[in-house]
Amino acid sequence: MTTPKNTMDRTANRELLGNGTFKFACHDGVSCFTRCCHNADMYLYPYDIVRMKQNLNMTSEEFLVAHTTTAIRDMPTFPNVMLKMSDRQGNPCTFLTEKGCTIYSDRPYSCRAYPLEPAIYGDADGSMRMQYYVMHHDYCKGHGEDQVWTAKAWMADQEMEAYNEPNSCWARIAARFQANSFSSQNIDFNSPPMKMAFMASYNMDTFRRFVFESSFLSRYVVPQQQLDAVKQDDLELLMLGLSWIERFLFSEGPLEERA
Ligand code: SF4
Ligand code: SF4
Repeated sequence: MTTPKNTMDRTANRELLGNGTFKFACHDGVSCFTRCCHNADMYLYPYDIVRMKQNLNMTSEEFLVAHTTTAIRDMPTFPNVMLKMSDRQGNPCTFLTEKGCTIYSDRPYSCRAYPLEPAIYGDADGSMRMQYYVMHHDYCKGHGEDQVWTAKAWMADQEMEAYNEPNSCWARIAARFQANSFSSQNIDFNSPPMKMAFMASYNMDTFRRFVFESSFLSRYVVPQQQLDAVKQDDLELLMLGLSWIERFLFSEGPLEERA
């Protein structure tokens, strides 16, 4: 099982939403405006890095150094990537100003989804299914507003659709890392396979050089049309990177090895 977490913090009450509805609105008139952007323990997913580094016109390497921290948590051989908070009083997010979020159109998935928590579960037959929860933090006054949402309506309103495919693919890989099938092989987060997997997931500009400047293309079959897209499009590149992880670590997925 894997759960992409909205980790504003882990002490929140979490309520299963299913096909139900919830009341919520967040705007600059609520008394708690930007409270949730302080001291947040927020996981970033690979596609978050694509969106944020593009917004900031940075390379993935520059973004990772400037705006993230890593720690080993629920994946024993693979680091989680978290958004770095500033050292200013109250530890606000570095992207927070008096007017709100300066990267709002490309804010991370967890910021976008909150208070909804979409959880992706992997079944034994390899299929994935989605379950929806609603987070309740005492400080969040958005639940007292009158707007009523289904999960689907909220996700459409927060423009989350573009995240579905990369996040689902990442969830399949994260589930494998959580299951820790590497523990018996003396592989830890510092070992070359895990460093390569980290590069393909989170440091896509370096991965692009790896694809075009190493023996990658002599070892894997990438159709020319996909290759043309990968040259220019970071999402295409990320999807290739995630397929590559599935192939070289787990011998699965659509990426073919050359005979
Ligand atoms: S990225 Fe934006 S929405 Fe998310 S915590 Fe930072 S300021 Fe808040
Ligand atoms: S209503 Fe909730 S989500 Fe909106 S600013 Fe307040 S704490 Fe954050």
